[in-house]
Amino acid sequence: MLSRRLLLSLPAALLLIPALPVRAADPLPVVASFSILGDLVRQVAGPDAEVKTLVGPDGDAHVYQPSPTDAKAVAGAKLIFLNGLGFEGWMGRLLKSSGTKGKAITVTHGVKPRAADHDGHDHGNVDPHAWQDVGNVRIMVANIANALTDADPAHAEGYKARAAAYQAELETLESEIKAQIGALTAVQRRVITSHDAFGYYGKAYGVSFRAPQGMNTDSEASAKDVAKLISQIRKEKIKAVFVENISDPRLTQQLAKEAGAVIGGALYSDALSATGGPAARYLDMMRHNTKTLVTGMMQN
Ligand SMILES: [Zn+2]
Repeated sequence: MLSRRLLLSLPAALLLIPALPVRAADPLPVVASFSILGDLVRQVAGPDAEVKTLVGPDGDAHVYQPSPTDAKAVAGAKLIFLNGLGFEGWMGRLLKSSGTKGKAITVTHGVKPRAADHDGHDHGNVDPHAWQDVGNVRIMVANIANALTDADPAHAEGYKARAAAYQAELETLESEIKAQIGALTAVQRRVITSHDAFGYYGKAYGVSFRAPQGMNTDSEASAKDVAKLISQIRKEKIKAVFVENISDPRLTQQLAKEAGAVIGGALYSDALSATGGPAARYLDMMRHNTKTLVTGMMQN
């Protein structure tokens, strides 16, 4: 009797299992240092990780000052993603002061760093703006996927599948950029921006960029450098002059005015636009920048 009752009650017990209040595992808490990296991490993370970004849209990570809220986010994070290459000078102190037990992941590990060259000689600095070359972002996305998979192996399949899908989108993006720049003549491919953020883009896609301000935004452009750039713009009749979303546009506007050039629009160099803007995701940012650059360079 007992065994029969047990048998009869078994299917009922099994049916009950899906109805039990099963709590889904909380998403893995992670932090990304700035908006562009935040988007890349979100593309791979999907619903399996909750991504908090420290330096938000239109923010300048070169000169950022972390807030107590940032320290709290870092303290609770399992992974802290940073660009590295000297971009986030404030990160070391933030990691230490937050007391986090999370792992810091430098996503540019394996990227070939571009040395800063100015007037043909090396100043010994490394260019941090690696994301401006889609090839580098493919390395960064692979590093992000590996870090998420290691920290949260239960969701490895999801991380891997989303990373692979995003890699395919990056491949499409890169061929679009190459085709669009490739349609211009060598003489047309000259651009002036406010700070030296497009060295990787220039090297990857064959465009020459000059900027009055260096690779960091914390130092002022010297009057001598600005005067030199104005005479270069005049001499070479460069029409493609652009402001950036993270920089004060006044210097570039003055430069364009004195050199007889017109501002060709705003480029997104070190940060995404806010949601609803033209560059709210990395893929949109690269497409917007390329379209803006090509339109400007066609005037050269
Ligand atoms: Zn920069």
